[in-house]
Amino acid sequence: MSDKYQLLKSIIKQSNSIVVFTGAGISVPSGIPDFRSASGIYNQAWKITYSPEQIISHSFFLSHPEEFYEFYKEKMCYPNAKPNLAHLYFAELEKKGKNVSVVTQNIDGLHQAAGSTKVYELHGSIHRNYCMDCNKFYTLDDILKKKGVPHCDKCGDIIKPDVVLYEEGLDEMTIQYALSAIMTAEVMIVIGTSLKVYPAAGFIRYFKGKYLILINKEKTDYDQNCDLVFNEDVIEVIKKISWRNF
Ligand code: ZN
Repeated sequence: MSDKYQLLKSIIKQSNSIVVFTGAGISVPSGIPDFRSASGIYNQAWKITYSPEQIISHSFFLSHPEEFYEFYKEKMCYPNAKPNLAHLYFAELEKKGKNVSVVTQNIDGLHQAAGSTKVYELHGSIHRNYCMDCNKFYTLDDILKKKGVPHCDKCGDIIKPDVVLYEEGLDEMTIQYALSAIMTAEVMIVIGTSLKVYPAAGFIRYFKGKYLILINKEKTDYDQNCDLVFNEDVIEVIKKISWRNF
């Protein structure tokens, strides 16, 4: 094992308070495509003549719910995706008694599925859906079972996913919890994000702890500001530092 992995391992071992900031890259090994990578959904041909940015916007949701849901169900919901080694590793650290918070840009719920309990979802979650009128809650399964645009059983209005669409702001409470976790952590580990999505990417500036670590396949503009950088697959890094033989 080279020194870099040994160093990361000992930093994690010595630190009690860890914040993990994750983007699409951590869920790619679970079979969820990265929005912005070459093979991601932004570059896939789509039968409708709208761009994904247009489709996943608040105004489009209201004006074209059929097209929105057709795209959303097919391209953004992965009901069979399972947490991978990286999700499981950080959930395990929490179980071992460390104070681990997860701030994520992902909407897939895989950190919670792995067992993490302090997860702040900046862009919401596909697993929460609410009637736009009476606010009744629906699961992802409820939404996928309904053909076309899902309507509320109780009042008949349209159900909206609790996912932050373009033109919408992030949830204030979630931001507060996320910033508080970042500001009080000793170590921040950024995984699978090119740090190009604002305002979420700006959160890193609030970190005042000892070690800033970045694990991302491609180089980012932020690499030079980090104490340790791994430009490689997150699973490979976790395999080298984890205590189990996966
Ligand atoms: Zn309703």
